[in-house]
Parts: sequence; structure tokens; C-alpha cells
Amino acid sequence: MDETGEGEEYLFKIVVIGDSAVGKSNLLSRFARDEFDQNSKATIGVEFQTQVVQVDGKEVKAQVWDTAGQERFRAVTSAYYRGAFGALLVYDITRRPTFESIRRWLDELNTHCDTTVARMLVGNKCDLEDIRDVSVEEGKTLAEEEGLFFIETSALDATNVNTAFEIVIRDIYNNISRKVL
Ligand code: GDP
Ligand code: MG
Repeated sequence: MDETGEGEEYLFKIVVIGDSAVGKSNLLSRFARDEFDQNSKATIGVEFQTQVVQVDGKEVKAQVWDTAGQERFRAVTSAYYRGAFGALLVYDITRRPTFESIRRWLDELNTHCDTTVARMLVGNKCDLEDIRDVSVEEGKTLAEEEGLFFIETSALDATNVNTAFEIVIRDIYNNISRKVL
């Protein structure tokens, strides 16, 4: 799996899903490059970005996939999900319909991946508190009902973005090491 030969010991594919314009691409660029793009259009062509993180002193390479705009046509392909170890299900805390779509994204994830995939519910744009449309409690409740981790993030001011990915990566890592031992 390690095509670079640079000695990473693990490579985990993580998919980021959710409605259009919830901030998926910006969460990814914040995590992988510490960048935010105010005018980001649907990024066509960028399939994934990688970032190496340390877990228990081991180098873990996270290969994070972006829908690259496919979600606008509700046409995220099965190839997108194939081999995923983790998923971020993202909504925009200022737009309730994006929160209501989460169950549909979860259904889609479940049709392509088994239940061992680490799942994190992500309420993005928490910097926009004054126009919040979904409460923290509602996010927590949905996450509890569906067995997901839950976090609110801001790709804009970098709040909790690394933490969101790191919790997923650590959960994947723990599940795998438990199997190996
Ligand atoms: P995607 O379609 O889900 O990939 O969403 P994008 O990453 O392209 O972001 C959609 C829009 O939301 C862009 O105008 C971003 O600048 C904006 N955006 C993304 N994340 C945040 C955030 O955390 N806070 C704020 N205020 N805006 C954000
Ligand atoms: Mg995008």
C-alpha cells in the first residue's frame, strides 16, 4: 500500500461526505495543508490528499478523499467508498437541510462499507455562531442514535479540524491493532 517507500507503517483511506458547500474540501485542505480557500468552487479532479500523523509513535498516513463535486449530482460512485476505513459525515451548522441529509449519507455509506468503518459526524462552520441553525445538542443526539463520534469544527478558523481527523485515525488504528494482537 505504501507506494512512496518512505516508511509509513499504515495507510488509511478516509472519505469525506455530505451535501454540497458544507465545507468538505476546506476541511480537507485545512487538515492536509493548513489552508482555507474563501472562494473554493467545487474542486474537480482532486481525488485525495494525504497527511502523515503519529499514533502511539507510529507513522500513520491518512489518505483523505474528497467527493470533488460528485455529490451535487448525487452521484458519488462506489469506487469512492471502496476500501475506506473511516468516514467524516459533514453538515453545515447554519443550514438545517444539510443536517437532515446526514441519514441519507449514512445509508449510502452503509450500502458501500461495513459497520467497522470509523464514523465521525462533523458540524462544520462553528465560527458562524450567530446564524446557527442546528444546535450542538441535536448533533450529539443524532450521533448517539447512530453510533457516531461527534464534533463541531471550523475549517475557516481551524477549530477542531485536526482533532476530527485524528479521532477517526486513532479509532481505526485501535481497531486494527486489536485484531492483530
Ligand atoms: P464542499 O462543497 O462541501 O467541498 O464545501 P467547500 O469546502 O467548497 O466550502 C463551501 C463554502 O463554505 C465556501 O465558500 C467556503 O469558503 C465556506 N466554508 C467552508 N468551511 C467553512 C467554515 O468552517 N466556516 C465558514 N464561515 N465558511 C466555510
Ligand atoms: Mg468540495
